[in-house]
Amino acid sequence: MSIHIEDLTVRFKNGVTAINHANLNIPNGIFGLLGENGAGKTTLMRVLTTVLKPTSGTVTLDGILYSERNYEKIQRKIGYLPQEIELYPNLTVQECLEYMGDLAGVPKAECKKRIEYYLKKTSLAEHRKKKMKQLSGGMKRRVGLVQALLNEPEFLIVDEPTTGLDPEERIRIRNLLVDFSENRTVLFSTHVVEDLAATCNQLAIMHKGRFLYAGSMKNLTEEAQGKIWICKVPDERKAREVEQKYRITSKQYVEGGLQLRVISEIQPELECMSIPATLEDAYIYVTNQYE
Ligand code: ADP
Ligand code: MG
Repeated sequence: MSIHIEDLTVRFKNGVTAINHANLNIPNGIFGLLGENGAGKTTLMRVLTTVLKPTSGTVTLDGILYSERNYEKIQRKIGYLPQEIELYPNLTVQECLEYMGDLAGVPKAECKKRIEYYLKKTSLAEHRKKKMKQLSGGMKRRVGLVQALLNEPEFLIVDEPTTGLDPEERIRIRNLLVDFSENRTVLFSTHVVEDLAATCNQLAIMHKGRFLYAGSMKNLTEEAQGKIWICKVPDERKAREVEQKYRITSKQYVEGGLQLRVISEIQPELECMSIPATLEDAYIYVTNQYE
């Protein structure tokens, strides 16, 4: 399953352009969509699920064009976990999933089998009789994931599934997504670099409705190599001076002054040394180039 996005624009009635002539290819496997709040991630996902019709441009899924007459066919191939999901608070986990499966048109017997399978996979089997409103945030997200998988989608779209979760639950969700990316395409959005470092080989960086980077994690980190410096300054006044001139990504007190992490194409005129770039450095470097 692969998705091609060409010259895609989404402009809302209030004049906001959420996606601005964007191009992207999403290959098979797990693919990260990284971007700050307001970058356009949710809007893109809503287009990909056919919930939102773009203003212009084309999207194809395995060669099938996103046009109204193909929407139903496309929807059958897609599972979606929205960013804000409120599942029926007074239903039990089991009831809720049976109901969602029914809505998705999955035959009853088959649906029960799949619920069984995915509840086990997501470690929710023992909670099936609990009401939705009794579940923790992480458990709700996992039920949301099961819900998205009930029609055995070839393309799974998950919008910020780790936001607001504790570290243990974040890791659990990330591992499940990697699991579920076997034999399908998973599009996973987040504003946290760390989420992707642990899960994806491929990612796109979205910024103000465009893609600033698309490709492998490794090549992204390469882009910032040789541009990250650790510099030492004696006091806060000097640190502020440096901040006027360079992009600083961290600042900390050390013996005899402050240590700054600086992004710069050339060696800053300071006491400093070059260090290897991390994924986070590369993300900041790439987004900063387009400010
Ligand atoms: P992200 O998911 O990356 O945080 P969104 O896709 O939600 O970004 O939003 C992108 C931009 O589009 C933001 O400026 C947001 O305020 C705007 N936006 C999103 N949905 C709507 C809408 N229904 N009407 C008007 N503006 C919207
Ligand atoms: Mg969003």
